[in-house]
Amino acid sequence: MKKENYMSWHTYFMSIAFLSSFRSKDSKTQNGACIVDASNRIIGIGYNGLPRGCNDNDPQYWEDSDDNDLVRSKHTYVVHAEKNAIYNCMAHSMTGSTIYVTQFPCNTCAQAIIQVGIKKVIYLRKKEHSHHESLNESVNKMFQDTNVMIICYEELNISDSFFLKELERMKCLYE
Ligand SMILES: [Zn+2]
Repeated sequence: MKKENYMSWHTYFMSIAFLSSFRSKDSKTQNGACIVDASNRIIGIGYNGLPRGCNDNDPQYWEDSDDNDLVRSKHTYVVHAEKNAIYNCMAHSMTGSTIYVTQFPCNTCAQAIIQVGIKKVIYLRKKEHSHHESLNESVNKMFQDTNVMIICYEELNISDSFFLKELERMKCLYE
């Protein structure tokens, strides 16, 4: 007999993106991303972290106090989850694929998403405060002009979205 209650695709892929974020060594922000092709095959996974080979134990890479000091700011060094998923997927064509991301993408990740031909973005949460408001607006403009669909996971009203909330709770095991 076929099991009637099983995980939806959306929750499955978002959970994988979310689970990938557990690997991040960024003390403030852990993000994950999962790229899926039109046949629901996972073709790329990523989380935010330093470029391969950069020493994770060097505190200079993780400074988060003064954004004007570019040489001592993690924002200069950390590769975002979306880009890492794209880099990990270079062997495949990403044309027409979907990316599941734990956070609404920034402007440069949006550019990368567009350039590799990803056509749908499903995100879990969004930063709304002042600086991000205009960044989000610019991301929406680029996606709109290039026919990339962007959807909030919650707005999909997935019946098993409770699973993500459970996962979120489990994240505190690593706090
Ligand atoms: Zn980004």
